[in-house]
Amino acid sequence: LGQVAPLIRPAMAPAPTPSLDPADWDRFRAAAHAALDAALGRLEHIADGPVWRPTPDQVRGAFAAPLPRSPRDLEAVLGDVDALIAPFVVGNTHPRFFGWAQGAGTPVGVLAELVAAALNANCGGRDHVGPIVERQIALWAAEAFGFPAESSGVFVTGASQANFLGLLIARDAALGHTVRSQGLKAEATQLTAYASAEAHGCVRQAMELAGVGSASLRMIDTDAAGAMRIDLLRGAIAADRDAGLTPFLLVGTAGAVNFGAFDDLDTLADISAAERLWLHVDGAFGALTALSPSLRPLTKGLERADSVAFDFHKWAHVPYDAGFLLVRDPAMHKATFAAPAAYLSRTPRGLAAGEDWPCDYGPDLSRGFRALKVWMTFQTLGADAIGAAIEANCAAAKRLAGRIEASTLFELAAPVPLNIVCFSLCGEVGGARNRELVMRLQERGLAAPSTTRIDGREVIRAAIFNHRTSFADIDAFLEAATAIAIEL
Ligand SMILES: *Cc1c(COP(=O)(O)O)cnc(C)c1O
Repeated sequence: LGQVAPLIRPAMAPAPTPSLDPADWDRFRAAAHAALDAALGRLEHIADGPVWRPTPDQVRGAFAAPLPRSPRDLEAVLGDVDALIAPFVVGNTHPRFFGWAQGAGTPVGVLAELVAAALNANCGGRDHVGPIVERQIALWAAEAFGFPAESSGVFVTGASQANFLGLLIARDAALGHTVRSQGLKAEATQLTAYASAEAHGCVRQAMELAGVGSASLRMIDTDAAGAMRIDLLRGAIAADRDAGLTPFLLVGTAGAVNFGAFDDLDTLADISAAERLWLHVDGAFGALTALSPSLRPLTKGLERADSVAFDFHKWAHVPYDAGFLLVRDPAMHKATFAAPAAYLSRTPRGLAAGEDWPCDYGPDLSRGFRALKVWMTFQTLGADAIGAAIEANCAAAKRLAGRIEASTLFELAAPVPLNIVCFSLCGEVGGARNRELVMRLQERGLAAPSTTRIDGREVIRAAIFNHRTSFADIDAFLEAATAIAIEL
């Protein structure tokens, strides 16, 4: 009595296990600084190297090694990163990477990932600044898209996941939250959903994952501009109602993956209001055209959607991955996912305070601090510069399209409403020579377009998503493609 026992009595303390921190911080720090310099140097000089190199067998072999049981010097491991990893990544930071729909990253994004990793905050919940920054990003997205400030938002891996979550919320809105416990089998009625034939494959997959079934997704044919045909949409909804089915979800696309088509979102909003359908917009890359004053009219009607899925890692160039779902009705959003668990119960004060945790708005519990890299990117660059880079990509696409129209070797294969140019060798029927041309461009490291199928033909697809792409890159790409076309 009167004497406070020491917290741990030395005699009973366990033998100290070594921590995993470096024994020599100064040496670690020197290697870390060098690694950061190397990473920034690669970005600064990215245009000097090939867009892509195939990964040699010897390198592949280096990644079939047994589990390392003992330590190696960080310097040696970083040497492997330089020699075995950095040269063989996909190449989307390069200004002549034109494949699929990929962001290019920025130096501030590199730094943000470093800072976030050092903080190592678990942003699933609890009362700390991570979820507060995430809330800020939802507010920014709501402002950019014309959503109410109360809208809820949540980071997910990418638009595929965000579209899936949007569909689940629409399901709950249609059937009530008892569907969470009872499942779809308890329902007397079959749900049906509607999307354009240009919609991304993840919409179909979301129907499958949700257990609604992709057979109940109506892929509505598009007009010449790639927009969902409204007459066919109305007909499909009416036919399903006549058949006793329950239309619940209309998916609009803002920037379709083939050539960047936009659905008429305003009219889709009218239809979803009249038919009482949930309007979800897949705006994976296209939604961010709202940041450009000249492109913003494309997204007219987006502000009326119930939910929108989009990616910061595509046209906002935040490092992978940073998908986002924004939802107009936060209560509906939360009631689709929130689940009581004793270990997640809230306290009035302290670290477990706060009603709204990100884990209440999706299936992820442990989650990284994706909000930090978005916050740092927008703070440092400003939303206007990101909008201007989007505009510049569209201008580069127009230039490429113009040069293709003027060429005697190539022809356009689809409209060019945005930043994606689909083209073909003139008169090519199946597309085998188009595919060969794309593979040769990639293998020689000259440029990396991809291919897609349009009207049954495999065509060359150049998607210009990179803020580093100049008109000179566009011209060099077309010259290289022309040289290979002549070989073929
Ligand atoms: C990229 C893309 C997706 C999928 O997004 P991820 O981030 O790759 O999951 C969905 N829809 C469209 C239109 C896309 O361009």
